[in-house]
Amino acid sequence: MVPSLPPIGLGTWENDDPAQCARSVRTALELGYRHVDTAEHYGNESAVGDGIASADVPRDELFLATKVHPISGGMTHDEVLDEAEASMERLGVDYLDLLYVHWPVGEYEAEETLGAFEHLVEEGLVRNVGVSNFDVDLLDEARGVLESPLFAHQVEMHPFLPQRELVEDAQRHGYTLVAYSPLARGAALTNSVICDIADQYETSPAQVSLAWVTSHENVVAIPKATSRAHLEDNLGAAALELDDEAIARIDDIERRTRFVERDGAPWQ
Ligand code: NAP
Repeated sequence: MVPSLPPIGLGTWENDDPAQCARSVRTALELGYRHVDTAEHYGNESAVGDGIASADVPRDELFLATKVHPISGGMTHDEVLDEAEASMERLGVDYLDLLYVHWPVGEYEAEETLGAFEHLVEEGLVRNVGVSNFDVDLLDEARGVLESPLFAHQVEMHPFLPQRELVEDAQRHGYTLVAYSPLARGAALTNSVICDIADQYETSPAQVSLAWVTSHENVVAIPKATSRAHLEDNLGAAALELDDEAIARIDDIERRTRFVERDGAPWQ
């Protein structure tokens, strides 16, 4: 059965201090987070693993996602297998719920790279295949070579980058769009429209930004937070339902900005 992801998961990019990272993962799991996102490239998989080990959550209730990186790890068949194994060792787990291609750059080649993903699925080491930072053409190509269904596409999405074409693609083909930087790396929290709606709902700008992201069918968000207060605030967004007028006001925000870039990204 294809699992469905909770609307709010935990991001961990730049949660670099190992003790702090382990603490926030543990606190998040204690608060009720069940989807944790990391990456080989973040250099914090061991700390994420420590946080998971110190929390009292059965492995089968946790949805753990990591990513293989084209530069720090490589995208050839054997490099992907080696990287996935090293990630699992650092995370202290014997399978991954979701493994992503972090970026379709460098040696990424759909047939070879995703062939290695298929191999990991067949071996039972990876439960679901994901890609990140793709465009619709690359998504079509990936689906064309994959035998298992594409489970998720992780991409930047927030009120300044609504990603309408990619959201529609996820809905049309039945996979999950995992929205990264869903708070626009903090920038959404001072936007006047977001703040005004937060006042109206007597909630925080973070909850408004996240509730707008997750109001889209097939879309979940993975805000990064370190403190208990931020973790708790973000998880609370799952219970916030914005009305059509609030959603339309956020849809109409004119500012368009992307916060995450990489040479060779498909949108360049
Ligand atoms: P983000 O989640 O949009 O924003 C994180 C920032 O917002 C941090 O400074 C955090 O501060 C602050 N924050 C969090 N909750 C808050 C709250 N309730 N109130 C006020 N401030 C709050 O940015 P992100 O880290 O770029 O994206 C989230 C995750 O997506 C990453 O951690 C990573 O897992 C993933 N990601 C993936 C890719 C990719 O290429 N696939 C790229 C970027 C990100 P504190 O830390 O102090 O709480």
